[in-house]
Amino acid sequence: QRADNIGMPKIPDVHWDDIGGLEDVKSHILDTIQLPLDHPELAATGLNRSGVLLYGPPGTGKTLLAKAVASQCALSFLSVKGPELINMYVGQSEANVRRVFQKARDAAPCVVFFDELDALAPNRGRSGDSGGVMDRVVSQLLAELDGVNASEDVGKQVFIIAASNRPDLIDPALLRPGRLDKLIYVGISENKEDQLKVLIAQTRKLNLSPTVSLKEVADRCPVNMTGADFYALTTEAATNAVRRHIQQSISNYMDDTVCAVEQCDLIEAASKI
Ligand code: ATP
Repeated sequence: QRADNIGMPKIPDVHWDDIGGLEDVKSHILDTIQLPLDHPELAATGLNRSGVLLYGPPGTGKTLLAKAVASQCALSFLSVKGPELINMYVGQSEANVRRVFQKARDAAPCVVFFDELDALAPNRGRSGDSGGVMDRVVSQLLAELDGVNASEDVGKQVFIIAASNRPDLIDPALLRPGRLDKLIYVGISENKEDQLKVLIAQTRKLNLSPTVSLKEVADRCPVNMTGADFYALTTEAATNAVRRHIQQSISNYMDDTVCAVEQCDLIEAASKI
């Protein structure tokens, strides 16, 4: 057995509530996965299942969405980054692709998440593809994608979700009907209401002081912040709270107040981020 760097599929520990906003995207992606799970007989009617391509700027929640839908539907989840499968040895990259699908079939029902798909499946026939390696990888991927649609047995279904910041670089054959034909844009939250939802989702597990106003924090943030930027903000606020707590304990070491995140921790983090 050859050692590989492909992980083991498992049901992710991500809840819908961990995602702030993106309601339309959530229901769209859920429909795509839930329908064939509830009605496996559809496969026999020739209605092929669709794979999903999530595209948009980095840090907007594409990976989080894919994990949440797997968790919501109780499906195991196998995540692979496109570039990780590319290997310099002849035939290895295609073998890696086959191995991913084999692992997914063994763990079915399963979601395979291909991050950075553009790196794994670029347009065929490009110059610079030495020895036609990438062309063969794309052909292998197409064959595997066509294979996963065939199963009517719910317990054996494999769903494909891919993500890319550059969908224009992906070989168009991957985006044909029955393959990754559901293209869903995942963008930056552009209004205060959605930014507030992201903040609420990300502070759900923090010990927030009851006096905290997340709305005030959202109002101070610029409109072009991604979910990843908000994650940096809330992590920084939690660190500020710990630092403040340590300093206060030194001056008042008998005080064992719980280390709650206060408004000042969030505001300080917002101005820094
Ligand atoms: P990339 O294109 O770089 O792979 P991505 O779109 O897959 O990025 P994620 O990895 O899902 O982004 O998100 C990055 C971080 O931002 C994670 O910590 C995630 O929890 C957080 N995040 C992103 N969007 C949201 C959101 N809508 N609600 C809550 N957290 C979010």
